[in-house]
Amino acid sequence: MARKRKLGGYAGQHLHVDMTKGLCKPVPLEKEFAVKYIGGQGFASRILYDQVGPQTNPLSPDNILIWATGPFTGTLWPQASRYVVGAKSPLTGIFGEAHSAGHWGPELKFGGFDTIIVTGRAKNPAYLLIDNGKAKLIDAKDLWGRNTNETEEIIKETHRDPNLRVSCIGQAGENLVRFAAIINDYDRAAARSGIGAVAGSKRLKAVAVRGSQDIPVAKPDKYLKVIEKLHQKMLDSPFTASRAKYGTTNLVELMQEIGRLPSYNMRSGVFAEYQKISGEAIREHYLVKPRADYACLQRCGRYTLVKAGPYAYCGGSPEYESQSALGSRCGNENLESILYGHHLSNLYGMDTISTGATISWAMEAWDEGLITAEDTGGLDLSWGNHETIVKLIHMIAHREGFGDILAEGSFRAAQKIGRGTEKFVMHSKKQEIAGQEPRAQKSMGLASATAARGADHLYAFPVLDEIGFDEEIGIRYGEKYLPEIGDRLDPKYKGIMVKENEDFCAVVESLGVCKYGTVIPPVLFYEDIVTTYEVTVGISLTEAEFRLAGERIVNLNRAFNIREGIRRKDDSLPRRLTHTPAPEGPSKGQVVELDQMLDEYYEQRGWNVKDGLPTNHTMRRVKLEDVVEDLAKHGIVLPN
Ligand code: SF4
Repeated sequence: MARKRKLGGYAGQHLHVDMTKGLCKPVPLEKEFAVKYIGGQGFASRILYDQVGPQTNPLSPDNILIWATGPFTGTLWPQASRYVVGAKSPLTGIFGEAHSAGHWGPELKFGGFDTIIVTGRAKNPAYLLIDNGKAKLIDAKDLWGRNTNETEEIIKETHRDPNLRVSCIGQAGENLVRFAAIINDYDRAAARSGIGAVAGSKRLKAVAVRGSQDIPVAKPDKYLKVIEKLHQKMLDSPFTASRAKYGTTNLVELMQEIGRLPSYNMRSGVFAEYQKISGEAIREHYLVKPRADYACLQRCGRYTLVKAGPYAYCGGSPEYESQSALGSRCGNENLESILYGHHLSNLYGMDTISTGATISWAMEAWDEGLITAEDTGGLDLSWGNHETIVKLIHMIAHREGFGDILAEGSFRAAQKIGRGTEKFVMHSKKQEIAGQEPRAQKSMGLASATAARGADHLYAFPVLDEIGFDEEIGIRYGEKYLPEIGDRLDPKYKGIMVKENEDFCAVVESLGVCKYGTVIPPVLFYEDIVTTYEVTVGISLTEAEFRLAGERIVNLNRAFNIREGIRRKDDSLPRRLTHTPAPEGPSKGQVVELDQMLDEYYEQRGWNVKDGLPTNHTMRRVKLEDVVEDLAKHGIVLPN
């Protein structure tokens, strides 16, 4: 009898973990499922859709938590370091996911699994140990209350293995902070959507993995030649040198130049003191050395050192999002406090974007006299008060005093306090907008409004209108759109740009590779994916099939959210961004023309313009017929 050939690129099995019963069970990965949903984001999206219905409370045992890698994770593709964590989000109440790099994802594959699917809730805290295909839950009561670095250290010491890879939560996840993160390899964060709180709700402190299993490739004779070409392309790109020099920290200077650096809770897109918090300032005074994740040629990570003073530390450096969130957004020009605040957020396991944005919301409300010392327990929330920012990070993680309100995220905090503070919440679908002032780049505004996990800068990261129009890349979006697609202030053609970019990001995050060098900017693009997938997995898919897979995943995320009641009205931005002209800087006078861009976006997607519902035709085209039937069971009839 002919043996079934194993797919290349995959470890070949899921790990099911039932926290309630304390059981771990390997389940084979089905070939059809792997090819249709690719891996990473695609796997997490489909499993979530099937297992988490609209009645599920995100912090109840009925929610599930999925760690998912892709077929390129742990291979030799440049930057093949990524994994995805998916769950229904306690911050937004809809589809939630976060991505991270480092070495943990590849190690999971070396340990014998593509995904981990966690259900239920343990009676007592536990951590999961995966050791070369075997898995068990271990008591974690001595780890509960520890920060992420301590947790990782103790687990390594306990098992006498410094090479164990650990993905874990800190105190923020334990205390169900709604924007808690999961941290791996000490300072790599799967930050958004509050997935750390879902781990906390299940009393799952950490997942430690080690393995020495090979990841098979289908055509080893051709594989190395293909990979060699990819590496050369990546090394030849001018972006590679710049990223190794600054990481993303020099975006502060670049964003200031175009008015996209959010400051004072997005009142403005420029910050007068930007040089004090810039990439150059970090490089000159605090940089120890760059660091690379698994198989990375770009090396955007770095270590920094603050030698003395209240903010002394040595560890992972902030990237642009933390610089802007804890810096300009809060009117904070004290760089050492930003570096330290970032480090502290990683130790507690919190998303720095939501942390900084929530604090900046409170600072604006304070500035307007709507929040007073009576609310804050005497803390002074004046713009730029870095001592308060750092103090609030501690208080949020432990849910102490005013920190307990902020731990709910800015949307719920404003609902609780009221008094008109609601209008200062810079969010979409209850998640705080990242460090991209959209009045200075319209595509970013649209991308924040349509992102399935709530406001986000990585569900799509359209760059053509930021880095300038490039003919070679631009043609890939359709020659007829030249050259308007390159104008960041023109709302025209942003619908197609964001749609294409969301699809591509879904493919990239499903394959398990970093967006740097693929999406930002697309040094490696669809044709490289097609070639590499064939020699890795052993199946030949065309560019059109990959594009369709990206669309399928985005439509699946939309269907999850539609089932939760999300419609066009929720694809929104704060009124400040759509109605109040940018007050200063290079984008002075601009607003986000969201309605116009949404119309185009829905048309491009094949969704109805009135409600933002995918049409029957679209869902059938992307081969999600069963989802149409499921939605009908929930009383949702899609338009034709
Ligand atoms: S570019 Fe940065 S995030 Fe991407 S793999 Fe390299 S170090 Fe990690």
